[in-house]
Amino acid sequence: MAHPRNFIAGFVAADVAKEHHVRGAEAGAMMFFPYDQLPSWQGSADDLLENWEQHMASLRRAVPYRTDGVVLEVTEPVVREAMGATSSFHRWQIALKTKGETATTRVHNIRLQTGRTGRITPVMEIEPVTLSGAVISNVTAHTAANLAQQGLGEGAEVEITRAGDVIPKLERVVTAAAKPMAVPHCPSCGHAVEVEGEYAVCPNAASCPAQAESRIRHFFQTMGNADLFGPRTVAVLVEQGYTDVRSVFDLTAADFEAMGFGPGQSANLERELTRCRREAVPDWRFLAAIGLRHLGRGDARKLLSVFSLDEVTDLTAEAIAGVEGFGAITSRSIADQLQEQKALIEDLRALGFNLRPTPKAEAGADAPEGPLSGEAVVFTGTLTIGTRGELEDQARNLGATVQSSVNSKTTILVFGEKAGSKRKKAEGINEKAGKEQVRILEESDWAGWLQQAEA
Ligand SMILES: [Zn+2]
Repeated sequence: MAHPRNFIAGFVAADVAKEHHVRGAEAGAMMFFPYDQLPSWQGSADDLLENWEQHMASLRRAVPYRTDGVVLEVTEPVVREAMGATSSFHRWQIALKTKGETATTRVHNIRLQTGRTGRITPVMEIEPVTLSGAVISNVTAHTAANLAQQGLGEGAEVEITRAGDVIPKLERVVTAAAKPMAVPHCPSCGHAVEVEGEYAVCPNAASCPAQAESRIRHFFQTMGNADLFGPRTVAVLVEQGYTDVRSVFDLTAADFEAMGFGPGQSANLERELTRCRREAVPDWRFLAAIGLRHLGRGDARKLLSVFSLDEVTDLTAEAIAGVEGFGAITSRSIADQLQEQKALIEDLRALGFNLRPTPKAEAGADAPEGPLSGEAVVFTGTLTIGTRGELEDQARNLGATVQSSVNSKTTILVFGEKAGSKRKKAEGINEKAGKEQVRILEESDWAGWLQQAEA
């Protein structure tokens, strides 16, 4: 298995074993190993502290499987009690995870990427290595300053790991490069960079192609229409001089064809632009799509849960700082940018997007923040991609409010087989509103839609 740990974790957590779990069990690919049958060592706290590494190593050698840590526990009842133990909280136990697998490899190139705000991010291209079941060939080097500080460049030898067994991460530099990479120019437009703290920044916001591409892609991604406006398509638009989102919305199928897109794709692109305007979207998503610094999805939602979209472009820094979670410096920056982008925001709004106002702070403030913040979801019918409970938990974890029935606050309905009255009710709401107030998704589309929302 590529990810044995994930397989077992999924199996253990499942209410009902899935088909691949059953197949794994039948093939004898997994074994249940009770905790109290694992090898252990018992001794004094002094001994433990002094000889920690040897004890750990001999225990791990005694287990014929890969392990990711040990459990330390207090055996003395009096001490357990003093630690606040109850029958349901084993406060005398603590799991100590070892850091994930690491691998040493060599950097063969550093690729520079200019983002939508002009920040230049160095990405190390390394000789591919397999780590915790995945082949890793790119690792971020974070900032230009970091390249110089750590001596990163072609030929550097680096130790990498995967944070939480997922995200590739530079653990340490084993041997620095003879010549660390310097970032004097923007890799996209060639403009001399400016240094802002740790970052090298391309100041050429108006005509840097990479910044224009990344702003346009950010807009469509955040609005949830990323499918057709991918990197290649957007690169062509920018090359043809459509460097801001507003101008892209003027394009027709004929224009796309004139740029060299095929007739089918051109028609789809025009349709996608229409869909982007018609489909109901929370207004915080629109604001976040503009791509201002310090105003991502979570903060856009917070801001719009206090002020309306009409108000935000004229807010003072003081007013923004009055909203919980906004500091003085970022508030100043956000106020300035909103003022600068006021015309663009108004021009875009004039295109008639179907924006749903963010509920004001009292309502729905409890849900955690996530890509589904502001959404109210109802599941109905017989669901097969997971249990009702699993799907509801997932939606909640991504920031959505889960409702048991469809009402005027519902924004998404996910239906399985034999969906009846709830689906009818949602369709009725849309009919009455004359627009897609409730997105009605088949359960198979829900998974894809989630991925897009998370992107
Ligand atoms: Zn540039």
